[in-house]
Amino acid sequence: MSKIWDAVIIGGGAAGLFCAGVAGQLGKNVLVLDHAEVLGEKIRISGGGRCNFTNVHSSPANFLSLNPHFVKSALARYSSKDFIKLVTAYGIDYHEKHQGQLFCDDSAMQIIAMLMAECAKGKVTIRHPVSVQSIGHEGDEWLVQTQQGVEKAKAVVMATGGLPVPAIGASAYSLDIAKQLGLNVIEPRPALVPLSFTAETFGNLNDLAGLAVPVRIASGSKGQRYGACRFNEDLLLTHKGLSGPAVLQASSYWVEGEPIHVDWLGAIERPGGFNCDALFNHEDNHLKLTETILASVLPQRLAKAFAEQKNLLGKKWAEVSKKDRQSLKELLTNWSVKPAGTLGWKKAEVMLGGVDTKDLDGQTMMSRKHRGLFFIGECVDVTGHLGGHNFQWAWASGFACAQAL
Ligand SMILES: Cc1cc2nc3c(=O)[nH]c(=O)nc-3n(C[C@H](O)[C@H](O)[C@H](O)COP(=O)(O)OP(=O)(O)OC[C@H]3O[C@@H](n4cnc5c(N)ncnc54)[C@H](O)[C@@H]3O)c2cc1C
Repeated sequence: MSKIWDAVIIGGGAAGLFCAGVAGQLGKNVLVLDHAEVLGEKIRISGGGRCNFTNVHSSPANFLSLNPHFVKSALARYSSKDFIKLVTAYGIDYHEKHQGQLFCDDSAMQIIAMLMAECAKGKVTIRHPVSVQSIGHEGDEWLVQTQQGVEKAKAVVMATGGLPVPAIGASAYSLDIAKQLGLNVIEPRPALVPLSFTAETFGNLNDLAGLAVPVRIASGSKGQRYGACRFNEDLLLTHKGLSGPAVLQASSYWVEGEPIHVDWLGAIERPGGFNCDALFNHEDNHLKLTETILASVLPQRLAKAFAEQKNLLGKKWAEVSKKDRQSLKELLTNWSVKPAGTLGWKKAEVMLGGVDTKDLDGQTMMSRKHRGLFFIGECVDVTGHLGGHNFQWAWASGFACAQAL
């Protein structure tokens, strides 16, 4: 009689390997199948090679999903504290960078090695590269057809991730299987992705590539699919448009055809907050050039570009009309600009959308329509903010699933 696995996990990335290790150590017989030559490639390239593996502040508020409550159970049962405990147990040194983001001191490869060691502890069988041709079921038994034969299992866990970075093996396989088996899929689109602009909307900012500015950014709106956001982060001007943490965060909420809003002075930290009117009305500024006043709060090149945009370059502040001052203030504090698009799957860090959470049980990640069919990680309609939240979702959803196998 051929072997019946407790679970076959399709996809040996962050969520799949973590789930396999936990389930194996709970005594389950687990097989992981992956079509890639090398496992954990997204982990390897993450966080600039140092893997921002979690965030100490990770909470449901850091996730976008059509059902924002869906993440609550899994995140509560496996928190960033739990993953930090595991990392510490493996002697992996790490540091906190910015707003609770934790990175390996040395290399992302340590996280991959840790996941593989956890799988070895749980006696998990891993096969790759192997391509899965079809998934079906006969009664309570799942049949996974691969190019090497059929695997039988009590459960199948779909963990093939999202569509970003097709060059390292990303595929829509989990979404395809979900659709085939009658689950709803929320249309995927690139998120945490740089935004592009036309020369017309971008004007002379094109010449400032490489400049990073702390800003307050806003995009989306309450009535839209994933709501609205406001972040204080660095914005990076590039040859192709806008990037940097501020824009990546805003991109997840951005709706095509709508503007994003940048307050170039909103992230300036002053006791009692920064007051643009006080800067404009300060008596000492009367005889100064417009670009000099702007350069007291902005990088010089940007100050010059803004003065130029408003035809105020070389003009003394006393000569600037009330109307022009108002228009400059609007530009500085509510630069409202329509992106032409995103830089797409090649440059996106994550996928927005995926398997609709209303078809999944938030306690177990199991399909409500098919007993024994699970979806974990990025293929689910759960997308984290930048800063380690996406890996935290991979660990938490993998853990919840492993308990239910
Ligand atoms: C450049 C970059 C940097 C990032 N940095 C961070 C970061 O620092 N912190 C953070 O939290 N998140 C980061 N992310 C996001 C994070 O990598 C993902 O959210 C996370 O890896 C998702 O885990 P997953 O297991 O769902 O998918 P993945 O880790 O992508 O794993 C999916 C696995 O499935 C396999 N697979 C795909 N299709 C098939 C198929 N048809 N058959 C068999 N196997 C298949 C793939 O080969 C892969 O091994 C980054 C992403 C990118 C692209």
